[in-house]
Amino acid sequence: MKNKISIALFAILLVGCMPTIEDREQDAPLGPQQIESFDLLAEDYFVEDLACQDSEGLSEMAEQDVHRFDAGTTAPETHSFQGFTSKDTLKGPGFSQSVYDFHQQSKCTITDGAEACSTGSKVVKSPKKLKICNADRNFARASVEGVTLSSMSSLNSAYKFYLAIPNARENLRDTSLIVLPIVEKLTNQTGSDGIESTVRTITTDNLAYTSNFDGRPAFVIFPKSRNAVNKGRWKNLNLWELPWGMIHEFGHHVFRSHTGIEKLPGAKANVHGLVLNTPIHSIDFDETDDKSKSSTNGFSLAGRTSGPEEIFSAVNEAYADLFSFYALGQVPNLTQGVDCFEKNRDTTSNVFADGTAKRISAETLELFTATERYKFNSCDGPDFQDAHSLGAVIAHGMMRLYKARADVSSASPGQQAGWLLAWADAVGSSIRIKGKTAITFSNLLGLGLKGVAESDGSLTETQCEILKDVFPAFKDAWLASDFSCR
Ligand SMILES: [Zn+2]
Repeated sequence: MKNKISIALFAILLVGCMPTIEDREQDAPLGPQQIESFDLLAEDYFVEDLACQDSEGLSEMAEQDVHRFDAGTTAPETHSFQGFTSKDTLKGPGFSQSVYDFHQQSKCTITDGAEACSTGSKVVKSPKKLKICNADRNFARASVEGVTLSSMSSLNSAYKFYLAIPNARENLRDTSLIVLPIVEKLTNQTGSDGIESTVRTITTDNLAYTSNFDGRPAFVIFPKSRNAVNKGRWKNLNLWELPWGMIHEFGHHVFRSHTGIEKLPGAKANVHGLVLNTPIHSIDFDETDDKSKSSTNGFSLAGRTSGPEEIFSAVNEAYADLFSFYALGQVPNLTQGVDCFEKNRDTTSNVFADGTAKRISAETLELFTATERYKFNSCDGPDFQDAHSLGAVIAHGMMRLYKARADVSSASPGQQAGWLLAWADAVGSSIRIKGKTAITFSNLLGLGLKGVAESDGSLTETQCEILKDVFPAFKDAWLASDFSCR
């Protein structure tokens, strides 16, 4: 399997005469319900209420203190888990289980610079269901319970927001929450000197949504890495405490549900196991480290594609950013104070962190379609070869187009979010009818544009200005076909 998404990973490079793997995890004398500890991780994450895991949890959840990031700081706040139970696992409306202590391992080999991985991965540890026994307990931030309740509180807010949208579906599929999994990759390589070595990588510093894990969609909360701490990233913040981030992931669930598309026509079947679909970002934290390790980090420098899958994925990212923006009240600065996300992912900001305009021009598309992978630092500015940067531009443009709708002032926030759902519905039908040929930026964004235009395709003057400003690469084609400027 060629890893298409560059993900934030932390690797230890071990070189020896024999292909050995140094076992860096601490074999601490932990109880059977304790979770594994790795030096690579920022914390020794732990289950705080071990006794509870062997008994029956609360039959009815009430209010719980959770940690949420708001306006630049993380502080405890109270969230009502009304409708939730924790008898056999923490679950509630839209969520059928919360699990932890999952460990999967895959093996790969690098030959002549090309990475090949065995299909499927080994389950080292099966996930355990998490229970909560005490409503008055303040769980530590690094406890499995603390992580689960914090992330679930934002997902719960997202779900409630979704249900209040007039054209929401009642049959959104139930999801799982997978907390702090160890997704490990062992890569064997032989250097030019004939020396074999093994690199261990563990997926960290990310949030993800996968449309199918063990038969149902799941949200995945990856642990924070020591590397991120050492580099001073996200001080006093864990990504799962950022409501914007968790609700972004819920936005992927909405997009998946409303388009009805889990896999594009002709796409390869998902490899078995937990795959990092739709991560919250693709920042390479090893950017300052030895670049020779890059290929082992799933960050392939040579060769890339920019076909339907990459286009679909950019639209998917835009959608998730937009959903989060609407769910959190359409306000600016939702990512303020968050390293790598501030401005870059603030839907209201018309520039990236380095001042680059949020715009898809011919030059942007040239970068996106290039077969050579350019090195960008997407923490400071845009990486126009990455779905998240393209998505941020699309989200910004669509937000402004919605705002410029003639009837926006008379539409409730719920109705406005409804325009988003209608867009995903239209994307799904178009792909079902036309197959892969439907997957072009011009068509998929055009379907969004149809949602903001009058029924005859006419756009307001302001909307036409936005096309010129944000989508110059598609403007002429749109105006030559379905749309016109008033
Ligand atoms: Zn995403």
